[in-house]
Amino acid sequence: MAPPAQPTPLLAGLLQCSHDAILITDADFHIRQINRVFTELTGFTEDETIGRHIDILRPIAHDDEASLTEICQIVRTRGQWSGKLHGAGKTGEKRQMSLNATTIRSDDPADDACVFSFSSAHSAENGEHPDLAHIDTLTRLPNRLLLIDRLQQTIAQTKRSNLLVAVMLMDLDNFKTVNNSYGHLVGDRLLRKISQRLSRALRAGDTVARADVTRTASRPGDTVARVGGDEFVMIVTGLPNMDTLENITNRILQLTALPCEIDGREITVTASLGVTVFPFDAVDAETLIRHADQAMYQAKEYGRNSYHLFDAEQDQQAHTRRQLLERLKLALANDELTLHYQPKVNLRNGKVIGVEALLRWNHPDRGLVMPGEFLPQAEHDELILDIGKWVTRRALTQVMQWREHGINLNVSVNIAARQLLREDFAECVQCCLSDFPDLPRGTLEFEILESSAITNTAHVQKVIKDCEALGIHFSLDDFGTGYASLTYLKEIPAGTIKIDQSFVRDVLDDSDDLALVEGIIGLASAFRRIVVAEGVETPEQGVLLMRLGCDLVQGYGIARPMPAEQIPEWVAGFRPDPQWALWADAHWEMIDFPLLVAQYDHLKWVHRIAMSLEGGNLQLSEAELTDHHQCRFGHWYYGHGLVRYGHLDEFRELEAIHRDVHKLGPDIIRLREAGQHEQARQCMHDLLALKDQMLDKLGKLQSVVAKKV
Ligand code: C2E
Ligand code: MG
Ligand code: MG
Repeated sequence: MAPPAQPTPLLAGLLQCSHDAILITDADFHIRQINRVFTELTGFTEDETIGRHIDILRPIAHDDEASLTEICQIVRTRGQWSGKLHGAGKTGEKRQMSLNATTIRSDDPADDACVFSFSSAHSAENGEHPDLAHIDTLTRLPNRLLLIDRLQQTIAQTKRSNLLVAVMLMDLDNFKTVNNSYGHLVGDRLLRKISQRLSRALRAGDTVARADVTRTASRPGDTVARVGGDEFVMIVTGLPNMDTLENITNRILQLTALPCEIDGREITVTASLGVTVFPFDAVDAETLIRHADQAMYQAKEYGRNSYHLFDAEQDQQAHTRRQLLERLKLALANDELTLHYQPKVNLRNGKVIGVEALLRWNHPDRGLVMPGEFLPQAEHDELILDIGKWVTRRALTQVMQWREHGINLNVSVNIAARQLLREDFAECVQCCLSDFPDLPRGTLEFEILESSAITNTAHVQKVIKDCEALGIHFSLDDFGTGYASLTYLKEIPAGTIKIDQSFVRDVLDDSDDLALVEGIIGLASAFRRIVVAEGVETPEQGVLLMRLGCDLVQGYGIARPMPAEQIPEWVAGFRPDPQWALWADAHWEMIDFPLLVAQYDHLKWVHRIAMSLEGGNLQLSEAELTDHHQCRFGHWYYGHGLVRYGHLDEFRELEAIHRDVHKLGPDIIRLREAGQHEQARQCMHDLLALKDQMLDKLGKLQSVVAKKV
């Protein structure tokens, strides 16, 4: 086989400027020449092909009737073959092409050659004139059809590189005004000017000239396409990083916003740009354009004349949310939603004052789903209005059923901000109440989130007033988490404040939370509001709250939320914790609260020693363990306690016991460390006895301090 001859300058030029992929072989089908477009279309380079037999290209061309080998035979005998092919590039991506293969005869048969010319099969399929099928007639830019084709090619090629491709969808911000003010002809000329600027801004400077269909099978450089009235899509290829992208988006926005002179007038428009980047957004061509479109809408929302980058993760979340909402709609229709009820009690008199209705989803596959898993999504949708109506109606039906069995309970229902902010909220409630004519006034309470009422105080005031006229109470839920101001508390006439459970949970451990709870109770009293604490998990928290002046509580420490049918039995069996009754008639001054806290500090100290004996880490510093001045109880005793109660025998008697406690504690830890577990346990026993003595003495001190009312 002769080495391939260098092409003549004429042939080289022809190959270079052809928009088709061209391959030239000798009479035996050994490859002599290929052009650049061929490499880009198939992935085969000169090094891999020149001098080799055409058979190596077998995967790139086959059709239903003929393989490449068969096509070669036909060309050899008949001198020509043309037809459509299903091909695959070197990396396997599929495409349709039309192939025209012709033998070029020479005087010397040894110089015979065969020319294979591949082009996209698109236009042939459509049977349309290529220009009309793929070009926007106004701007001469590629239209959507050609855009998609190019984008598909770009994606295929980018998969082999480390570079990025940006797909940008641009929409003019105030184009309608231009059309309305100056007429459509001016609008059209503006679009043409903008399209020229865009083409120049990108490497697609020659887009207008190149917008022919053969280009679809050639190098997919940057592309500007017009896809709708004032909508353009740009494909920017070969980006090394996101910084480059930012330069380009800024350039596009700046260029678009430059004034355009049309018929002696200066017209200025701005644009909003939505951008998505492949392969970060690894989806197909159509979806990339859709994502750019979504991002463009965000740019419009955020204030126009700007760009917004599509967020694939955010989109996935939005998708999941839509799915959940659809499923939730079905759940409402299929009666899968249900309410559980959590009792609220009065610690001082030990009575059950009502229940809070809490939504649950009885999912056929997932079991009982908590509201935190589905309500936040529904709260951003109209669906929450339907759910809200269902909850109120269901809760009232339930209350009436209990009443029929002699159990009279108030019920509170949580309502979402979207419900509350509806113009017709009070009307809807009235309509619902009319179906329960026997329901006593004051039975229903709405719990509104502190934060949800902040946005439109005037409206919320009116809603509360209208509903109160119907005998409905209001409470501010999760109070303390919504950054409300004091003015706000004055303006929102909800009769009850519910202290958020996050403060109640740590009220015994965290002095800041204790201060907050105290503060909220004080505020409630100053504003003459009822105060309820939620999230009460232990009797001790209950006692502390009651002493702080908050008698109404709700929490796992009293009862967990339960299905409606369990409520009658629970109410019948409810016995208040004896600790509550003990302090029910005591009255405390704010200044004496540290005395209550000191008691819990001591209990916690003993508990930590006990836990460490069980094998846990000792959560006390050396000083807290050994020095009776340095533990939290000691701080109180020799500080605030001494100043306030130093004159009382009951107070002074505490000191000796407390000293003993701090002798025993370290002994226990040392014995444990020495492996003398039995002795350590013995000492622990003694420590617990000391603790009881402390509690007894503290109780006596507290009785002296508390003024009986
Ligand atoms: P929320 O109104 O503050 O209700 C109290 C939440 O705290 C309930 O959670 C309850 O089960 C939980 N809880 C009660 N006591 C304790 C306790 O001692 N310890 C702890 N750790 N948690 C306790 P749930 O049922 O998961 O409800 C969460 C939130 O969902 C509710 O908070 C409320 O904001 C909302 N929600 C529930 N049902 C509805 C409803 O029907 N409509 C609306 N709009 N929101 C609802
Ligand atoms: Mg609530
Ligand atoms: Mg709450």
